[in-house]
Amino acid sequence: MSGEDRLRTYRGKRRFDRTGEPSGTRSRSAAGSGEPLFVVQIHDATTLHFDFRLEVDGVLKSWSVPKGPSLDPHDKRLAMPTEDHPLAYRTFEGVIPKGEYGGGTVIVWDQGTYLPVGHDRRGRPVPFAESLRHGHARFELRGAKLRGGFALSRFRSGGDGEREAWLLVKTGSARAERDRPGTPDPHRARSARSGRTLRQVADDPDDVWESDRPAKRGARR
Ligand code: MN
Repeated sequence: MSGEDRLRTYRGKRRFDRTGEPSGTRSRSAAGSGEPLFVVQIHDATTLHFDFRLEVDGVLKSWSVPKGPSLDPHDKRLAMPTEDHPLAYRTFEGVIPKGEYGGGTVIVWDQGTYLPVGHDRRGRPVPFAESLRHGHARFELRGAKLRGGFALSRFRSGGDGEREAWLLVKTGSARAERDRPGTPDPHRARSARSGRTLRQVADDPDDVWESDRPAKRGARR
């Protein structure tokens, strides 16, 4: 399926004349290294959560992580899959209007690239998308805050009225990483793009407007 088709759910939830979120109609511009990207956003919506997104085959595969990722391998963080997002979403920081889908403030908590880590029993590399389909994917994050090995594992496949559910876990030696910090207070956390807090973006959303749409200065209501 093409990236465009896979964004149908994303687009169906949003009214792009009301929200500044990217519609995802532009494809990714030629990036330097070609390494796949990741982003973690903090989203102060009805329930505050982190959105963990990995670039896979032209879209951002996405999980909502209520507590956010942790660098402590003991922490198993619930990660609920959400709809694929356009690649342009990785820079989105701003305020989704009240009453719109996901209404609330978004900041980019961390960003960077990742290295898929996957091979079959014979040591041959397995495409990352295939690892995800099988419900277990390992990767190394190279972000400003998150660095090192992580794994996403599906523990509930969904169906029978239950939602599909995954765990996001830091891999590696628990002893070596014992003193690593967990997740900082999302209200004090600062954007990896703008250095701003949720509050600062909420107070002046037009000051940072990072989407593929032109800035709408003075359009605040
Ligand atoms: Mn969200």
